[in-house]
Amino acid sequence: MLKAEFEQRRRILASRLAPLKVDAFLVTFPGNVRYLTGYTGSNGLLLLFASGDAHFFTDPRYRIQAAAEVSCRIKVSTGPLLRDVLALIARKRVRWVGFEKSRLGFEHYEFLKSKLPVRCALQPLAGLVETQRMIKSATEIALIRRSVDVNSKAFEQSLRMIRPGRTREADLAAEIDYRMRKLGAERSAFETIVASGDRTALPHAQPTRKILGKNELLLIDMGATLEGYASDMTRVLILGRPSSRIKSIYRAVLEAQLAAIAVVRPGVTAAYVDRAARNVLKVEKLDNAFVHSTGHGLGLEIHEPPRLGKKEKTRLQEGMAITIEPGVYLRGFGGVRIEDTVVVSKTGCEILTPTSKELRQV
Ligand code: ZN
Ligand code: ZN
Repeated sequence: MLKAEFEQRRRILASRLAPLKVDAFLVTFPGNVRYLTGYTGSNGLLLLFASGDAHFFTDPRYRIQAAAEVSCRIKVSTGPLLRDVLALIARKRVRWVGFEKSRLGFEHYEFLKSKLPVRCALQPLAGLVETQRMIKSATEIALIRRSVDVNSKAFEQSLRMIRPGRTREADLAAEIDYRMRKLGAERSAFETIVASGDRTALPHAQPTRKILGKNELLLIDMGATLEGYASDMTRVLILGRPSSRIKSIYRAVLEAQLAAIAVVRPGVTAAYVDRAARNVLKVEKLDNAFVHSTGHGLGLEIHEPPRLGKKEKTRLQEGMAITIEPGVYLRGFGGVRIEDTVVVSKTGCEILTPTSKELRQV
């Protein structure tokens, strides 16, 4: 990604600080630091001034890496990073320092608070960078698209190893993670979910040593992280022949997913999209078995705003990358979830996930 893109992001964020009456904003969450600087290491902070001035802090382990990645001023601290942040705050005679209230740990908060210069105060801020991150640039969408492609390729390749009656859930999950990395991903974006039989009723099942049984449902929820950007896809397959009940539940979930995708466009609320999926399942009397929201934003994090839930008033905008993933979970029977990654376009949305949504038999 070009340095100019990070500089532009910092300029936009800096311009939003003055109206909030903060002179400087301390960014501590790694995903937000990365978004604003390009830094991919684990220990780094950004202090951004309303003037646009930006200072990045890291430790000596990251001296070389930071110099290559970060285009603003870099301070390599030999002690706690926050000590040097405080020294800069004192030197610049800052009055109000904003911080990420849902991201800064209590110990760090206490340290900052106890050592602030006189006439300087902390201002808790919520979701400032996250809001900016909701709308993806063309560069970001290109990365998400690549992440989605790698994810779908890894899915196709991994299916070949399935031998009902022999393959274990955990082995298939390991194969998926391996394939992703072979195809260019840094890692999986979250712990790969492989569940079979009635375990598919667990929306966030962890793969076990259970063997994939004949004529059972198989749910795979997987995502890759590529150059920091996540993809997310869920598919449900049948290890043999589907019963008529499985077929009808699958059809209902697919209809719900297509109904939600059909209403995605700029200006509609996240709740409206959620309702579109829920209404379809209501007709089939399956809405009570749909126990999560319809989707979520994704990007540098696998789950980021907006959330496509029942009460979410956020309006969709062009450039948002979101998942659409209704699901139905029936205890003792199993579950079906179908999930694609989509990008909100000018007039609707583009489905990035290329993988077929027909109920596949393996
Ligand atoms: Zn998923
Ligand atoms: Zn998801």
